[in-house]
Amino acid sequence: MQLKLHNTLTKRTEGFTPIDPDGRAVTFYSCGPTVYDFAHIGNFRAFLNADVLRRTLEVLGYKVNQVMNITDVGHMTDDAVADGGGEDKMEVAATRLAEAKKSGELPEGASVDPSDPMAVAEFYAAAFMEDSAALGMRIVDDAKRDPSLMPRPTQYIQEMIAMVETLIENNHAYVASDGVVYFSVQSFSAYGELSGNTVETLRSGEGGRVDMETQAVKRSPADFMLWKPDATHLMRWPSPWGEGYPGWHLECSVMANTLLGAEIDLHSGGEDNIFPHHECEIAQSRCATGCDAFSRYWFHTRFLLVDGTKMSKSKGNFYTLRDLFDKGATAAAVRLELIKTHYRSNANFTMQGLKDSQRQIDRWRRLKDWLTKHKDVAAHLHGPLVIAKEQFLGALCDDLNVAGAIGALNEAVNAYAIDAVPEGSGSSTLEFELKALLEMDQVLGVFDLDTLGGSGDLDVSKVDALIEARLTARDEKEWARADEIRDELLEMGVAIKDGPEGTTWSRIVQ
Ligand code: AMP
Ligand code: ZN
Repeated sequence: MQLKLHNTLTKRTEGFTPIDPDGRAVTFYSCGPTVYDFAHIGNFRAFLNADVLRRTLEVLGYKVNQVMNITDVGHMTDDAVADGGGEDKMEVAATRLAEAKKSGELPEGASVDPSDPMAVAEFYAAAFMEDSAALGMRIVDDAKRDPSLMPRPTQYIQEMIAMVETLIENNHAYVASDGVVYFSVQSFSAYGELSGNTVETLRSGEGGRVDMETQAVKRSPADFMLWKPDATHLMRWPSPWGEGYPGWHLECSVMANTLLGAEIDLHSGGEDNIFPHHECEIAQSRCATGCDAFSRYWFHTRFLLVDGTKMSKSKGNFYTLRDLFDKGATAAAVRLELIKTHYRSNANFTMQGLKDSQRQIDRWRRLKDWLTKHKDVAAHLHGPLVIAKEQFLGALCDDLNVAGAIGALNEAVNAYAIDAVPEGSGSSTLEFELKALLEMDQVLGVFDLDTLGGSGDLDVSKVDALIEARLTARDEKEWARADEIRDELLEMGVAIKDGPEGTTWSRIVQ
Protein backbone atom coordinates (compact mmCIF):
# COMPACT_ATOMS: atom_id res chain seq x y z
CA MET A 1 0.00 0.00 0.00
CA GLN A 2 1.42 3.40 -0.93
CA LEU A 3 0.68 6.54 1.03
CA LYS A 4 -0.80 9.39 -0.98
CA LEU A 5 -0.35 12.81 0.55
CA HIS A 6 -1.40 16.33 -0.36
CA ASN A 7 1.75 18.38 -0.88
CA THR A 8 1.31 22.10 -0.14
CA LEU A 9 4.29 22.82 -2.40
CA THR A 10 2.85 21.26 -5.57
CA LYS A 11 -0.81 21.66 -4.50
CA ARG A 12 -1.36 18.08 -5.61
CA THR A 13 -1.98 14.77 -3.89
CA GLU A 14 1.07 12.65 -4.65
CA GLY A 15 2.37 9.16 -3.95
CA PHE A 16 4.92 9.30 -1.16
CA THR A 17 8.44 8.11 -2.06
CA PRO A 18 11.31 8.85 0.32
CA ILE A 19 14.76 10.06 -0.74
CA ASP A 20 16.40 7.00 0.87
CA PRO A 21 17.60 4.74 -1.97
CA ASP A 22 16.40 1.72 0.04
CA GLY A 23 13.01 3.41 0.34
CA ARG A 24 12.67 2.70 4.07
CA ALA A 25 14.07 5.67 6.03
CA VAL A 26 12.08 8.91 6.21
CA THR A 27 13.38 12.28 7.41
CA PHE A 28 10.64 14.42 8.94
CA TYR A 29 10.97 17.92 10.42
CA SER A 30 7.99 19.20 12.43
CA CYS A 31 7.79 22.84 13.49
CA GLY A 32 7.26 22.70 17.22
CA PRO A 33 6.06 25.14 19.86
CA THR A 34 7.49 28.41 21.06
CA VAL A 35 7.67 27.84 24.78
CA TYR A 36 6.39 31.21 26.01
CA ASP A 37 3.23 29.74 27.55
CA PHE A 38 1.36 26.44 27.90
CA ALA A 39 0.52 25.05 24.44
CA HIS A 40 -3.24 25.11 23.73
CA ILE A 41 -5.12 22.27 22.07
CA GLY A 42 -5.12 24.16 18.74
CA ASN A 43 -1.32 23.89 18.75
CA PHE A 44 -1.70 20.22 19.63
CA ARG A 45 -3.98 19.64 16.64
CA ALA A 46 -1.02 20.49 14.39
CA PHE A 47 1.45 18.42 16.42
CA LEU A 48 -0.88 15.40 16.74
CA ASN A 49 -1.62 15.29 13.03
CA ALA A 50 2.13 15.18 12.44
CA ASP A 51 2.21 12.30 14.94
CA VAL A 52 -0.57 10.47 13.08
CA LEU A 53 1.38 10.90 9.81
CA ARG A 54 4.49 9.54 11.47
CA ARG A 55 2.62 6.57 12.99
CA THR A 56 1.00 5.81 9.63
CA LEU A 57 4.41 5.74 7.96
CA GLU A 58 5.65 3.43 10.71
CA VAL A 59 2.74 1.03 10.30
CA LEU A 60 3.56 1.00 6.56
CA GLY A 61 7.07 -0.16 7.50
CA TYR A 62 9.11 3.05 7.26
CA LYS A 63 11.69 4.03 9.82
CA VAL A 64 10.87 7.65 10.63
CA ASN A 65 13.56 10.00 11.86
CA GLN A 66 11.48 12.90 13.21
CA VAL A 67 12.79 16.14 14.66
CA MET A 68 10.57 18.68 16.44
CA ASN A 69 12.11 21.94 17.59
CA ILE A 70 11.28 23.72 20.82
CA THR A 71 11.74 27.42 20.10
CA ASP A 72 13.33 29.31 22.95
CA VAL A 73 14.53 32.51 21.25
CA GLY A 74 13.94 34.74 18.25
CA HIS A 75 10.19 34.20 17.70
CA MET A 76 8.93 37.77 17.62
CA THR A 77 5.43 39.02 18.32
CA ASP A 78 5.22 40.38 14.74
CA ASP A 79 6.58 37.28 13.00
CA ALA A 80 3.33 36.84 11.09
CA VAL A 81 4.86 39.33 8.65
CA ALA A 82 8.16 38.67 6.91
CA ASP A 83 9.76 41.58 8.78
CA GLY A 84 9.84 39.81 12.13
CA GLY A 85 9.54 42.94 14.22
CA GLY A 86 8.11 43.42 17.68
CA GLU A 87 9.33 41.85 20.87
CA ASP A 88 10.76 38.42 21.58
CA LYS A 89 7.91 36.19 22.80
CA MET A 90 10.17 34.73 25.50
CA GLU A 91 10.95 38.15 26.93
CA VAL A 92 7.27 39.11 26.87
CA ALA A 93 6.53 35.89 28.78
CA ALA A 94 9.15 36.65 31.44
CA THR A 95 7.56 40.06 32.04
CA ARG A 96 4.06 38.52 32.08
CA LEU A 97 5.12 36.03 34.73
CA ALA A 98 6.61 38.80 36.85
CA GLU A 99 3.21 40.57 36.69
CA ALA A 100 1.48 37.29 37.55
CA LYS A 101 3.63 36.95 40.61
CA LYS A 102 2.50 40.35 41.84
CA SER A 103 -1.16 39.40 41.45
CA GLY A 104 -0.60 35.94 42.95
CA GLU A 105 -1.51 34.08 39.74
CA LEU A 106 1.81 32.45 39.02
CA PRO A 107 1.63 28.88 37.64
CA GLU A 108 3.19 26.40 40.07
CA GLY A 109 6.95 26.07 39.52
CA ALA A 110 7.28 28.95 37.03
CA SER A 111 10.32 31.20 37.07
CA VAL A 112 9.46 34.83 37.74
CA ASP A 113 12.69 36.61 37.01
CA PRO A 114 12.03 38.95 34.05
CA SER A 115 15.77 38.99 33.35
CA ASP A 116 15.79 35.22 32.87
CA PRO A 117 13.81 34.19 29.76
CA MET A 118 15.76 30.91 29.62
CA ALA A 119 14.24 29.79 32.90
CA VAL A 120 10.80 30.64 31.51
CA ALA A 121 11.60 28.58 28.41
CA GLU A 122 12.72 25.70 30.60
CA PHE A 123 9.48 25.78 32.59
CA TYR A 124 7.16 25.79 29.58
CA ALA A 125 9.31 23.30 27.65
CA ALA A 126 8.95 20.84 30.55
CA ALA A 127 5.17 21.42 30.55
CA PHE A 128 5.10 20.84 26.78
CA MET A 129 6.98 17.56 27.12
CA GLU A 130 4.58 16.44 29.83
CA ASP A 131 1.47 17.30 27.76
CA SER A 132 2.94 15.75 24.61
CA ALA A 133 3.72 12.52 26.46
CA ALA A 134 0.21 12.48 27.92
CA LEU A 135 -1.19 12.80 24.38
CA GLY A 136 0.95 9.94 23.09
CA MET A 137 3.27 11.88 20.78
CA ARG A 138 6.00 9.42 19.79
CA ILE A 139 8.58 12.14 19.34
CA VAL A 140 8.74 12.44 23.14
CA ASP A 141 9.92 8.82 23.45
CA ASP A 142 12.58 9.56 20.82
CA ALA A 143 13.74 12.61 22.75
CA LYS A 144 14.15 10.54 25.91
CA ARG A 145 16.63 8.41 23.97
CA ASP A 146 18.22 11.33 22.12
CA PRO A 147 17.38 14.86 23.35
CA SER A 148 18.79 16.40 20.15
CA LEU A 149 15.63 15.18 18.35
CA MET A 150 13.74 17.96 20.15
CA PRO A 151 16.36 20.69 19.68
CA ARG A 152 16.39 24.21 21.12
CA PRO A 153 17.61 27.01 18.82
CA THR A 154 19.84 28.41 21.57
CA GLN A 155 21.96 25.25 21.17
CA TYR A 156 22.59 25.90 17.46
CA ILE A 157 23.74 29.53 17.39
CA GLN A 158 27.15 28.74 15.82
CA GLU A 159 25.51 26.74 13.02
CA MET A 160 23.12 29.65 12.42
CA ILE A 161 25.98 32.13 12.17
CA ALA A 162 27.69 29.77 9.70
CA MET A 163 24.56 29.61 7.51
CA VAL A 164 24.23 33.41 7.49
CA GLU A 165 27.89 33.69 6.45
CA THR A 166 27.30 31.25 3.58
CA LEU A 167 24.23 33.20 2.45
CA ILE A 168 26.16 36.49 2.48
CA GLU A 169 29.05 34.88 0.52
CA ASN A 170 26.58 33.59 -2.08
CA ASN A 171 24.93 37.02 -2.43
CA HIS A 172 21.65 35.79 -1.03
CA ALA A 173 21.96 37.98 2.06
CA TYR A 174 23.30 41.42 2.88
CA VAL A 175 24.05 43.66 5.82
CA ALA A 176 21.78 46.71 5.62
CA SER A 177 22.62 50.21 6.82
CA ASP A 178 20.88 49.49 10.14
CA GLY A 179 23.39 46.64 10.75
CA VAL A 180 20.75 43.93 10.38
CA VAL A 181 21.43 40.95 8.09
CA TYR A 182 18.55 40.39 5.66
CA PHE A 183 17.82 37.64 3.19
CA SER A 184 17.35 39.06 -0.30
CA VAL A 185 14.18 37.51 -1.70
CA GLN A 186 14.95 38.79 -5.19
CA SER A 187 18.06 36.61 -5.21
CA PHE A 188 15.91 33.46 -5.12
CA SER A 189 13.58 33.04 -8.06
CA ALA A 190 11.50 30.30 -6.41
CA TYR A 191 10.48 32.59 -3.52
CA GLY A 192 6.71 32.38 -3.24
CA GLU A 193 6.31 28.87 -4.70
CA LEU A 194 4.97 27.41 -1.46
CA SER A 195 2.53 30.15 -0.45
CA GLY A 196 1.62 31.53 -3.86
CA ASN A 197 2.92 34.96 -2.88
CA THR A 198 5.12 36.59 -5.48
CA VAL A 199 7.85 39.09 -4.73
CA GLU A 200 6.00 41.69 -6.80
CA THR A 201 2.75 41.41 -4.89
CA LEU A 202 4.29 40.96 -1.47
CA ARG A 203 4.07 43.74 1.01
CA SER A 204 5.79 42.57 4.14
CA GLY A 205 3.52 44.69 6.28
CA GLU A 206 0.29 43.13 5.04
CA GLY A 207 -1.89 42.23 7.99
CA GLY A 208 0.69 43.49 10.43
CA ARG A 209 2.57 46.52 11.57
CA VAL A 210 4.93 48.13 9.06
CA ASP A 211 8.12 49.51 10.46
CA MET A 212 8.89 52.36 8.04
CA GLU A 213 12.50 52.65 9.17
CA THR A 214 13.12 48.98 8.46
CA GLN A 215 11.40 49.21 5.10
CA ALA A 216 13.67 52.09 4.10
CA VAL A 217 16.89 50.10 4.58
CA LYS A 218 15.77 46.88 2.90
CA ARG A 219 16.34 46.17 -0.79
CA SER A 220 12.86 44.72 -1.09
CA PRO A 221 9.90 45.01 1.32
CA ALA A 222 9.72 41.19 1.51
CA ASP A 223 13.34 40.76 2.63
CA PHE A 224 13.43 39.13 6.04
CA MET A 225 15.79 39.22 8.99
CA LEU A 226 18.48 36.57 9.48
CA TRP A 227 20.49 38.15 12.27
CA LYS A 228 19.69 41.23 14.31
CA PRO A 229 22.38 42.97 16.33
CA ASP A 230 20.70 44.22 19.50
CA ALA A 231 22.56 45.04 22.69
CA THR A 232 19.30 45.32 24.66
CA HIS A 233 17.90 41.89 23.77
CA LEU A 234 18.15 39.73 26.88
CA MET A 235 19.17 36.65 24.90
CA ARG A 236 22.06 37.63 22.65
CA TRP A 237 25.24 36.10 21.29
CA PRO A 238 28.43 37.48 19.70
CA SER A 239 28.54 37.30 15.90
CA PRO A 240 30.44 38.88 13.00
CA TRP A 241 27.54 41.41 12.85
CA GLY A 242 27.62 42.31 16.51
CA GLU A 243 25.94 40.89 19.59
CA GLY A 244 22.41 39.92 18.74
CA TYR A 245 19.99 37.13 17.97
CA PRO A 246 18.90 34.95 15.02
CA GLY A 247 15.68 35.16 12.99
CA TRP A 248 13.00 32.58 13.77
CA HIS A 249 12.89 31.26 10.20
CA LEU A 250 16.64 30.73 10.16
CA GLU A 251 16.45 28.55 13.25
CA CYS A 252 14.34 25.83 11.63
CA SER A 253 16.45 25.78 8.43
CA VAL A 254 19.60 25.29 10.50
CA MET A 255 18.20 22.62 12.83
CA ALA A 256 16.70 20.65 9.92
CA ASN A 257 19.98 20.85 8.00
CA THR A 258 22.16 19.94 10.99
CA LEU A 259 20.03 17.09 12.30
CA LEU A 260 18.41 15.63 9.18
CA GLY A 261 20.43 16.78 6.16
CA ALA A 262 20.28 19.31 3.33
CA GLU A 263 17.27 17.68 1.70
CA ILE A 264 14.50 16.07 3.74
CA ASP A 265 11.36 14.09 2.96
CA LEU A 266 8.69 15.78 5.02
CA HIS A 267 8.07 19.06 6.79
CA SER A 268 4.99 19.82 8.87
CA GLY A 269 3.33 22.76 10.59
CA GLY A 270 0.05 24.58 11.05
CA GLU A 271 -1.50 26.45 8.11
CA ASP A 272 -0.22 29.80 9.41
CA ASN A 273 3.35 28.52 9.05
CA ILE A 274 3.08 28.40 5.24
CA PHE A 275 3.84 32.10 5.01
CA PRO A 276 6.16 33.60 5.96
CA HIS A 277 7.84 30.91 8.06
CA HIS A 278 8.07 27.98 5.65
CA GLU A 279 8.47 30.14 2.56
CA CYS A 280 11.49 31.74 4.23
CA GLU A 281 12.86 28.38 5.40
CA ILE A 282 12.82 27.10 1.81
CA ALA A 283 14.62 30.21 0.55
CA GLN A 284 17.37 30.06 3.19
CA SER A 285 17.90 26.31 3.01
CA ARG A 286 18.02 26.00 -0.75
CA CYS A 287 20.30 29.04 -1.15
CA ALA A 288 22.65 27.83 1.59
CA THR A 289 22.88 24.19 0.52
CA GLY A 290 22.46 24.55 -3.24
CA CYS A 291 19.92 21.69 -3.27
CA ASP A 292 16.99 21.82 -5.69
CA ALA A 293 14.59 21.04 -2.87
CA PHE A 294 14.58 21.52 0.87
CA SER A 295 11.65 19.31 1.84
CA ARG A 296 10.00 17.14 -0.83
CA TYR A 297 6.59 17.13 0.83
CA TRP A 298 4.96 19.86 2.90
CA PHE A 299 2.17 18.88 5.29
CA HIS A 300 -0.01 21.58 6.85
CA THR A 301 -2.82 21.19 9.34
CA ARG A 302 -5.76 23.59 9.22
CA PHE A 303 -6.77 25.49 12.34
CA LEU A 304 -8.79 24.23 15.22
CA LEU A 305 -11.73 26.60 15.67
CA VAL A 306 -13.99 27.53 18.55
CA ASP A 307 -17.38 28.87 17.44
CA GLY A 308 -16.01 29.40 13.96
CA THR A 309 -12.95 31.40 15.08
CA LYS A 310 -9.32 30.23 15.23
CA MET A 311 -8.36 29.02 18.67
CA SER A 312 -5.52 31.29 19.74
CA LYS A 313 -3.81 32.80 22.72
CA SER A 314 -4.47 36.35 21.55
CA LYS A 315 -8.25 35.82 21.26
CA GLY A 316 -8.41 34.16 24.66
CA ASN A 317 -10.70 31.43 23.26
CA PHE A 318 -8.38 28.55 24.04
CA TYR A 319 -8.15 25.47 26.24
CA THR A 320 -4.94 23.88 27.39
CA LEU A 321 -4.77 20.16 28.03
CA ARG A 322 -4.63 21.00 31.73
CA ASP A 323 -7.91 22.98 31.47
CA LEU A 324 -9.59 19.92 29.96
CA PHE A 325 -8.16 17.56 32.57
CA ASP A 326 -9.67 19.83 35.22
CA LYS A 327 -13.02 19.35 33.52
CA GLY A 328 -12.67 15.57 33.79
CA ALA A 329 -11.54 14.88 30.21
CA THR A 330 -9.05 12.12 29.49
CA ALA A 331 -5.94 12.43 27.36
CA ALA A 332 -7.26 9.69 25.07
CA ALA A 333 -10.47 11.63 24.33
CA VAL A 334 -8.56 14.85 23.68
CA ARG A 335 -6.21 13.03 21.31
CA LEU A 336 -9.04 11.44 19.36
CA GLU A 337 -11.01 14.68 19.26
CA LEU A 338 -8.01 16.51 17.78
CA ILE A 339 -7.18 13.91 15.09
CA LYS A 340 -10.60 12.71 13.96
CA THR A 341 -11.34 15.52 11.50
CA HIS A 342 -9.35 15.52 8.26
CA TYR A 343 -6.21 17.60 8.72
CA ARG A 344 -7.00 19.73 5.66
CA SER A 345 -10.38 20.79 7.06
CA ASN A 346 -10.97 23.06 9.98
CA ALA A 347 -12.09 21.24 13.09
CA ASN A 348 -14.50 22.86 15.52
CA PHE A 349 -13.87 22.13 19.17
CA THR A 350 -16.85 21.43 21.45
CA MET A 351 -17.23 19.70 24.81
CA GLN A 352 -19.92 17.52 23.21
CA GLY A 353 -17.40 16.37 20.60
CA LEU A 354 -15.02 15.48 23.38
CA LYS A 355 -17.72 13.40 25.10
CA ASP A 356 -18.48 11.60 21.82
CA SER A 357 -14.80 10.79 21.39
CA GLN A 358 -14.69 9.37 24.89
CA ARG A 359 -17.73 7.19 24.24
CA GLN A 360 -16.10 5.87 21.08
CA ILE A 361 -12.86 5.00 22.88
CA ASP A 362 -14.80 3.28 25.67
CA ARG A 363 -16.50 1.06 23.08
CA TRP A 364 -13.18 0.13 21.47
CA ARG A 365 -11.64 -0.50 24.84
CA ARG A 366 -14.51 -2.71 25.93
CA LEU A 367 -14.06 -4.81 22.79
CA LYS A 368 -10.33 -4.97 23.42
CA ASP A 369 -10.92 -6.28 26.96
CA TRP A 370 -13.46 -8.79 25.68
CA LEU A 371 -11.13 -10.03 22.93
CA THR A 372 -8.28 -10.32 25.40
CA LYS A 373 -10.46 -12.60 27.52
CA HIS A 374 -11.68 -14.63 24.54
CA LYS A 375 -8.60 -14.66 22.38
CA ASP A 376 -8.38 -18.47 22.37
CA VAL A 377 -11.94 -18.89 21.06
CA ALA A 378 -12.10 -20.32 17.53
CA ALA A 379 -13.52 -17.96 14.88
CA HIS A 380 -13.27 -17.11 11.21
CA LEU A 381 -9.76 -16.69 9.90
CA HIS A 382 -10.82 -13.33 8.53
CA GLY A 383 -12.96 -11.75 11.19
CA PRO A 384 -14.45 -8.26 10.99
CA LEU A 385 -11.44 -6.53 12.54
CA VAL A 386 -8.90 -8.24 10.27
CA ILE A 387 -10.94 -7.04 7.28
CA ALA A 388 -11.41 -3.58 8.80
CA LYS A 389 -7.67 -3.22 9.27
CA GLU A 390 -7.08 -3.29 5.52
CA GLN A 391 -9.81 -0.69 4.96
CA PHE A 392 -8.43 1.33 7.86
CA LEU A 393 -4.95 1.45 6.29
CA GLY A 394 -6.46 2.11 2.87
CA ALA A 395 -8.24 5.20 4.23
CA LEU A 396 -5.07 6.47 5.89
CA CYS A 397 -3.10 5.99 2.68
CA ASP A 398 -5.70 8.19 1.00
CA ASP A 399 -4.20 11.48 2.24
CA LEU A 400 -4.60 10.49 5.90
CA ASN A 401 -8.35 10.04 5.95
CA VAL A 402 -8.61 9.40 9.69
CA ALA A 403 -12.41 9.75 9.69
CA GLY A 404 -12.68 7.04 7.02
CA ALA A 405 -10.31 4.82 8.97
CA ILE A 406 -12.37 5.23 12.14
CA GLY A 407 -15.52 4.47 10.12
CA ALA A 408 -14.04 1.13 9.00
CA LEU A 409 -13.06 0.28 12.58
CA ASN A 410 -16.50 1.14 13.90
CA GLU A 411 -18.22 -1.07 11.38
CA ALA A 412 -16.22 -4.03 12.68
CA VAL A 413 -17.00 -3.05 16.27
CA ASN A 414 -20.71 -3.00 15.37
CA ALA A 415 -20.45 -6.59 14.07
CA TYR A 416 -19.37 -7.66 17.54
CA ALA A 417 -22.20 -5.81 19.19
CA ILE A 418 -24.67 -7.83 17.10
CA ASP A 419 -23.09 -11.28 17.10
CA ALA A 420 -21.01 -11.37 20.27
CA VAL A 421 -18.61 -13.96 18.77
CA PRO A 422 -18.38 -13.94 14.97
CA GLU A 423 -19.33 -17.41 13.77
CA GLY A 424 -16.34 -19.72 13.94
CA SER A 425 -15.05 -22.24 11.46
CA GLY A 426 -12.47 -23.34 13.97
CA SER A 427 -9.61 -22.56 11.59
CA SER A 428 -8.28 -19.73 13.68
CA THR A 429 -8.77 -17.89 16.95
CA LEU A 430 -9.89 -14.45 18.01
CA GLU A 431 -6.28 -13.62 18.76
CA PHE A 432 -6.00 -12.38 15.16
CA GLU A 433 -8.89 -10.05 15.74
CA LEU A 434 -7.27 -8.65 18.87
CA LYS A 435 -4.03 -8.20 16.97
CA ALA A 436 -5.80 -6.29 14.18
CA LEU A 437 -7.48 -4.00 16.73
CA LEU A 438 -4.17 -3.28 18.45
CA GLU A 439 -2.51 -2.57 15.11
CA MET A 440 -5.16 0.01 14.26
CA ASP A 441 -4.45 1.61 17.62
CA GLN A 442 -0.81 1.93 16.61
CA VAL A 443 -2.05 4.89 14.55
CA LEU A 444 -4.95 6.13 16.69
CA GLY A 445 -2.80 5.78 19.81
CA VAL A 446 -5.60 5.93 22.39
CA PHE A 447 -5.49 2.60 24.28
CA ASP A 448 -2.45 3.30 26.41
CA LEU A 449 -3.12 6.90 27.26
CA ASP A 450 -5.30 7.30 30.31
CA THR A 451 -2.73 6.07 32.77
CA LEU A 452 -0.27 8.65 31.46
CA GLY A 453 -2.25 11.78 32.18
CA GLY A 454 -5.57 13.26 33.01
CA SER A 455 -8.02 12.29 35.66
CA GLY A 456 -9.83 9.72 33.58
CA ASP A 457 -8.05 6.50 34.45
CA LEU A 458 -11.22 4.46 34.11
CA ASP A 459 -11.52 0.69 33.96
CA VAL A 460 -14.35 0.28 31.45
CA SER A 461 -14.80 -3.44 32.18
CA LYS A 462 -15.20 -2.63 35.86
CA VAL A 463 -17.93 -0.13 34.97
CA ASP A 464 -19.73 -2.84 32.98
CA ALA A 465 -19.39 -5.33 35.82
CA LEU A 466 -20.78 -2.83 38.35
CA ILE A 467 -23.76 -2.02 36.11
CA GLU A 468 -24.41 -5.75 35.78
CA ALA A 469 -24.21 -6.17 39.57
CA ARG A 470 -26.62 -3.26 40.07
CA LEU A 471 -29.16 -4.80 37.69
CA THR A 472 -28.93 -8.10 39.59
CA ALA A 473 -29.40 -6.24 42.89
CA ARG A 474 -32.49 -4.50 41.48
CA ASP A 475 -33.90 -7.80 40.17
CA GLU A 476 -33.51 -9.17 43.67
CA LYS A 477 -35.08 -6.00 45.10
CA GLU A 478 -31.94 -5.17 47.07
CA TRP A 479 -32.48 -1.44 46.60
CA ALA A 480 -29.88 -0.31 49.13
CA ARG A 481 -27.18 -2.37 47.39
CA ALA A 482 -28.25 -1.00 43.97
CA ASP A 483 -27.93 2.56 45.31
CA GLU A 484 -24.56 1.79 46.80
CA ILE A 485 -23.31 0.65 43.40
CA ARG A 486 -24.71 3.79 41.76
CA ASP A 487 -22.73 5.87 44.29
CA GLU A 488 -19.59 3.85 43.65
CA LEU A 489 -19.94 4.57 39.92
CA LEU A 490 -20.51 8.26 40.62
CA GLU A 491 -17.31 8.32 42.61
CA MET A 492 -15.49 6.80 39.62
CA GLY A 493 -16.83 9.72 37.54
CA VAL A 494 -19.57 7.68 35.85
CA ALA A 495 -23.24 8.69 35.59
CA ILE A 496 -25.85 6.05 34.73
CA LYS A 497 -29.26 6.35 33.15
CA ASP A 498 -32.02 3.73 33.10
CA GLY A 499 -34.04 3.77 29.91
CA PRO A 500 -36.15 1.53 27.66
CA GLU A 501 -32.96 0.11 26.13
CA GLY A 502 -31.45 -0.77 29.48
CA THR A 503 -28.88 1.09 31.51
CA THR A 504 -26.49 3.41 29.70
CA TRP A 505 -23.58 5.31 31.21
CA SER A 506 -21.39 8.29 30.48
CA ARG A 507 -18.37 9.89 32.03
CA ILE A 508 -19.06 13.01 34.01
CA VAL A 509 -17.45 15.89 32.11
CA GLN A 510 -18.05 19.27 33.70
P1 AMP B 1 3.47 28.61 18.27
O1 AMP B 1 3.80 27.98 19.58
O2 AMP B 1 2.69 29.86 18.38
O3 AMP B 1 4.73 28.77 17.41
O4 AMP B 1 2.52 27.59 17.46
C1 AMP B 1 2.83 26.24 17.38
C2 AMP B 1 2.09 25.56 16.26
O5 AMP B 1 0.69 25.53 16.48
C3 AMP B 1 2.28 26.19 14.89
O6 AMP B 1 2.63 25.16 13.98
C4 AMP B 1 0.92 26.78 14.54
O7 AMP B 1 0.70 26.74 13.16
C5 AMP B 1 0.00 25.84 15.27
N1 AMP B 1 -1.31 26.44 15.63
C6 AMP B 1 -1.54 27.59 16.31
N2 AMP B 1 -2.88 27.79 16.51
C7 AMP B 1 -3.50 26.72 15.94
C8 AMP B 1 -4.88 26.32 15.81
N3 AMP B 1 -5.90 27.04 16.31
N4 AMP B 1 -5.14 25.16 15.16
C9 AMP B 1 -4.15 24.39 14.66
N5 AMP B 1 -2.83 24.72 14.76
C10 AMP B 1 -2.50 25.86 15.38
ZN1 ZN C 1 9.72 26.17 12.17
